[in-house]
Amino acid sequence: MRLVLLGAPGSGKGTQAARLETHLQVPHISTGDLLRAEVAAGSRLGLEAKEVMARGELVSDAILLGMLEDRFSRPDTAKGFILDGYPRNLAQADALDALMHRLGQPMDYAVQLEVPQELLVERIAGRAKAEGRADDAPEAVRTRLQVYDSQTAPVIEFYRQHGQLTVIDGVGSLDEVFNRIIEAIAPSNPVG
Ligand code: ADP
Repeated sequence: MRLVLLGAPGSGKGTQAARLETHLQVPHISTGDLLRAEVAAGSRLGLEAKEVMARGELVSDAILLGMLEDRFSRPDTAKGFILDGYPRNLAQADALDALMHRLGQPMDYAVQLEVPQELLVERIAGRAKAEGRADDAPEAVRTRLQVYDSQTAPVIEFYRQHGQLTVIDGVGSLDEVFNRIIEAIAPSNPVG
């Protein structure tokens, strides 16, 4: 199962991806987590990405593609993956499409978690207190939501046009949203 999870910051992508990883037994690949690991390790790439991320802007497409190609070359992705945080603009969507075709592994689903803007802001504010992420500061959050609207929202259209898009209502309990996703991608196998 090869799945892309789409949704604004605060839409619950990361949380649902972690659950899907257990349920579907395929790795959860979060580009945000991969980048934060580089930052924590103090690698050259991490140093380059750190300030950009803290501002809530997008790290360069070239860095992201290199990182993903690396990740996809590991054997655990052979049976599939849940991609979270990528693609974030149309250039990345094209690059991913080309990469997957080259690997002979077209995407099965693009699942969009739909959550109203007010709720996004509320959720991120809650997480900011709990986790203290640099990019959860109010100014960076504003930038991230703007970047999402201007650059990432068109990616949803991209997958709609490719006939791969499934829209899921992201409002509700974690279990409710999870069951909606499972229901949409594997109807015979609901949980809970
Ligand atoms: P969220 O979805 O909550 O905003 P992520 O953990 O997915 O957070 O990403 C955090 C930051 O990492 C982004 O704001 C961006 O700076 C960087 N990043 C993650 N994925 C990408 C990507 N595909 N392209 C460019 N930058 C990215």
